[in-house]
Amino acid sequence: MDLFEYQARDLFAKHGVPVLAGEVIDTPEAAREATERLGGKSVVKAQVKVGGRGKAGGVKLAATPDEAVARATDILGMDIKGHTVHKVMIAETAPEIAEEYYVSYLLDRTNRTFLAMASVAGGMDIEEVAATTPEKLAKVPVDANEGVSIEKAREIVAQAQFPAEVAEKVAEVLVTLWKTFIAEDALLVEVNPLAKVASGEVIALDGKVSLDENADFRQPEHEALEDKAAANPLEAAAKAKNLNYVKLDGEVGIIGNGAGLVMSTLDVVAYAGEAHGNVKPANFLDIGGGASAEVMANGLEIILGDPDVKSVFVNVFGGITACDEVANGIVQALELLASKGEEVTKPLVVRLDGNNAELGRKILSDANHPLVQRVDTMDGAADKAAELAAAAK
Ligand code: GDP
Ligand code: MN
Repeated sequence: MDLFEYQARDLFAKHGVPVLAGEVIDTPEAAREATERLGGKSVVKAQVKVGGRGKAGGVKLAATPDEAVARATDILGMDIKGHTVHKVMIAETAPEIAEEYYVSYLLDRTNRTFLAMASVAGGMDIEEVAATTPEKLAKVPVDANEGVSIEKAREIVAQAQFPAEVAEKVAEVLVTLWKTFIAEDALLVEVNPLAKVASGEVIALDGKVSLDENADFRQPEHEALEDKAAANPLEAAAKAKNLNYVKLDGEVGIIGNGAGLVMSTLDVVAYAGEAHGNVKPANFLDIGGGASAEVMANGLEIILGDPDVKSVFVNVFGGITACDEVANGIVQALELLASKGEEVTKPLVVRLDGNNAELGRKILSDANHPLVQRVDTMDGAADKAAELAAAAK
């Protein structure tokens, strides 16, 4: 999960990374008081989860509270690379910036390690620096067990050739930034710019943090950082029901048990769809191993609630939960939805294979639901589901 700059800044402050004061607001008028609280001037910064805000006009200095209101008026509602600005941060202005550096830690999957990156050529052109003069961006692997001690931080600073007068201060920032990275279970923490100001201090003026959602179970405070307003409503509803659901942009709803099976189902449906006006999968939904009637009902409810869905392909390979249980689950799920007044109106194609497939198929045949069709091969079922979706388009 990517965070907004103001959230990153809060986490930095919590772990001792030097930052400037600021507050986040969502109306132009609120910029006035916020700026007054900061002593009469401020930086008005668009809060969107995309880089390059400065170049897009989303970071502006305001010399007076009135000017802050004017800048906030300009920036709120602005579109930055497809992201609408709903919030701005009113931040304390940095005392005269002398230099802009870049520092970050990230998970380096390719090399199975953590990686520190640092450059004295930070600021708004760091991507360009990395692409054209990669020697100006130091990359130092960090051992997960050893982490970043002050000695290790000095090694990073030396490799990046920071000037002697800031070397120790930058090393200290690197230690606190590492604390943030580990304590918050982040996949990325980035400071750009890390500014050297007139007084000689270094301050994190902009931060980017991406948190590892796999660690949510031990990070109860992270839930509050979610941007609920931006979440896809179907994905949010699925999450609340503990379903692994991802919305896609096609027409064939997909339910399967096991992530691998669901992924191959997406491929098979996309392929079959080519012959039917290019219909595509509408979602990924893995109901997991123990697909009880309730889980099946929850899954169907989410998928059928998607107006883009024209047909549904339920693809199950019976394992520990055998096909007869899954078939009963489907039948009960349809009854459950009907009893809630959410009668199913879209065709379902069901393919059952694996443990107790025969019994499962019989249960579906006996139930004889008018919208449920059984097709016993994966390719055949995908083709049928695609055909039905195309017909309903
Ligand atoms: P980004 O463009 O999305 O990375 O946004 P940043 O927060 O990094 O801001 C872009 C640029 O604005 C920085 O590189 C700084 O040069 C400048 N900037 C940001 N905050 C301040 C500040 O408090 N004072 C001054 N004078 N400039 C700032
Ligand atoms: Mn930046």
